[in-house]
Amino acid sequence: MNSYSFDQVFNSNSGWYRGDFHVHTTASDGDYPPSLVAELAKAEDLDFIAITDHNTIAGFSELRKDLDFLVVPGIEITLKEGHFNVFGMDGWRDWMDGISVNQRKFSQSAKYQRVPDLMHQISAERLLNSINHPYLQPWEWNFNDTDLRTTHCLEIWNDLYYPDNKRANPEAVDMWNRWLNAGHRIAAIGGSDYHYPPRPEENKFGERLGYPATLVYADELSVAGIMAGLRHRRTYVSKGPQVSFEAEINGEIFGIGADAGDGEGKIKFAATILSKPKTIQAQLVKNGQVIAEVEGKGRKVEITFSDLLDGNTSAWYRLDVSDSEGQKLVITNPIFTGPRREPTLFKYGDFV
Ligand SMILES: [Zn+2]
Ligand SMILES: [Zn+2]
Repeated sequence: MNSYSFDQVFNSNSGWYRGDFHVHTTASDGDYPPSLVAELAKAEDLDFIAITDHNTIAGFSELRKDLDFLVVPGIEITLKEGHFNVFGMDGWRDWMDGISVNQRKFSQSAKYQRVPDLMHQISAERLLNSINHPYLQPWEWNFNDTDLRTTHCLEIWNDLYYPDNKRANPEAVDMWNRWLNAGHRIAAIGGSDYHYPPRPEENKFGERLGYPATLVYADELSVAGIMAGLRHRRTYVSKGPQVSFEAEINGEIFGIGADAGDGEGKIKFAATILSKPKTIQAQLVKNGQVIAEVEGKGRKVEITFSDLLDGNTSAWYRLDVSDSEGQKLVITNPIFTGPRREPTLFKYGDFV
């Protein structure tokens, strides 16, 4: 084969891998060609990036065969009413027909003109749909008839340099909380939306690869490994710190993204936070509310929390980490407990 292979395994060990799920290249409106972007990501200590150019996968064929870095294949379907990423296809699919390379033309899939139908087809092909920057104006998500059953991920943190995201990202987190409370188990991820680095002299905000990063627990560092981790919500979003977060019920351990079943009694949480800020706040969030908060000091902070389960009530728990000014540094995906909550509302518009 003369081109980059998406079947490569870059590390056969299981573990947490740091990546960026939203990256542009010269195949659309980014400044750097795909292989160079991958090398820049490697220099930022990332383990992988997803290349998600606007309405095109042309960048895949430009990736150097000998590139020593994992690229997850993606595309940012860019329409007038909103943008979503698709992850996992390693080449052309029929639903791409009609989607214009020119992002300004907003032309739709020829065969699936309604976005819910398009997302349904993509989901049926075992690929993952991820709604991007849902509240970022003027690119907010306006497809209110989107079916959340074919929505696998939500980009809760987009480009941290972009001023409107100071408002838009927390709003995305709030909507994600409502989805989780309604029983939709959708993975929160982050994406830098990288196009070029900041250029203050030209008054351009720019982006930094891996800011925010999404960490994924994968059985191996490969496209298949990252896709499986994402599908099972074994992810957390970070502005830097590395964390671990586990629950223990009657001696059994459950990690981020897990369904801990309907055990009852004490649930004990253990978290480790490796971070640069001298003081951090670790919060245990249950069903969207902070139920415990601990201050930690030092490079490595170890924390425990506990709660009581009755075995009949559905709940989800996650770890949030903030700096001393209250700025969020990490948000994990939840650990679920109790009977599985069955959603009764399925449309995006039910939650905005
Ligand atoms: Zn976008
Ligand atoms: Zn983008």
